[in-house]
Amino acid sequence: MSHQTELPNARRSPRFAGLVTFGRYPRLQDVTHADRPVDWAIYGAPFDAGVTYRPGARFGPRSIREESQYLKRYSMAHDVDVCGVLSLADAGDAPVAPYSCKDSADLICAFATDLPDPGTTKPLALGGDHSIAYANIKAAWKRAGGPAGGLALMHFDSHLDTVDEVWGERWGHASPFIRCIEEGLVDPKRMLSIGIKGPLNTPGDLDFARKHGVRIVTPDDLAAGGDMLLRNFVRELADAAAYLTFDIDCVDPAFAPGTGTPSVGGLSSAQALGLVRACAGLNLIGADVVEVLPDRDHAGITALLAAHIAFEILSIDAVRRAGAKP
Ligand code: MN
Ligand code: MN
Repeated sequence: MSHQTELPNARRSPRFAGLVTFGRYPRLQDVTHADRPVDWAIYGAPFDAGVTYRPGARFGPRSIREESQYLKRYSMAHDVDVCGVLSLADAGDAPVAPYSCKDSADLICAFATDLPDPGTTKPLALGGDHSIAYANIKAAWKRAGGPAGGLALMHFDSHLDTVDEVWGERWGHASPFIRCIEEGLVDPKRMLSIGIKGPLNTPGDLDFARKHGVRIVTPDDLAAGGDMLLRNFVRELADAAAYLTFDIDCVDPAFAPGTGTPSVGGLSSAQALGLVRACAGLNLIGADVVEVLPDRDHAGITALLAAHIAFEILSIDAVRRAGAKP
């Protein structure tokens, strides 16, 4: 059963005051009761030792929370009161082992798996580099009862992240989806990767995805009406348990410069918001927003966009629940 998110009264406690939680949502430990579990637990995964280029995304959760203070509750695009339909809470940060990708994945996965009320409360992770997606997907899959055949995956990124290993590391940010597919957590035939672009290291970089039936939508496809591929995918999935992963580097560096592996020719902020909104109807059981690197950010614009993307992801679920009312 859904219920309201307890937000501070902005007239008495202005948005520039108080402890910083995501969206000014309450701390999970303050609202968890057996009779009223929250719908989404938002938590930080401050880990960035899985990067192949510029580090610094370990500070992403803090910067996203900071820029989320001016988020408001009502989605004009969907005409739904997101914080009225959903109970949302900030679960703090997962523990990490800063020198080890695998140990961090295990720690983050255990943290998210053990959050209260697994049948109801869904995990939304704020990265951190993209390696943390493997951990949160595994936790979300477990919390959803381990659906056979794996989850459907809506993947926003410039990169496929299906490289087997880099420098001998199999748990880094280039590999989360090959690991998820190997373990049966994600069904590659129900995986859509949107925003993918080159240059690549070799033409073989696409082989794994093509061989396993991952659908790829490039910025050129989008310019030619490829958003219909996304809309059709959402319709095709119907009620299937789905996960949304959003790597901020799918957005052009002109809009989102604060990221570790920037790639030009990407989405605009408005395009990205529109594409996430087009996912309304998905049966999301977990999500993440990753790869925000505040040291390369200007005026917090990348973290601000990430905060709004997270809100749009929550809105997807709010639309579904509001629509399910009699
Ligand atoms: Mn990625
Ligand atoms: Mn990427």
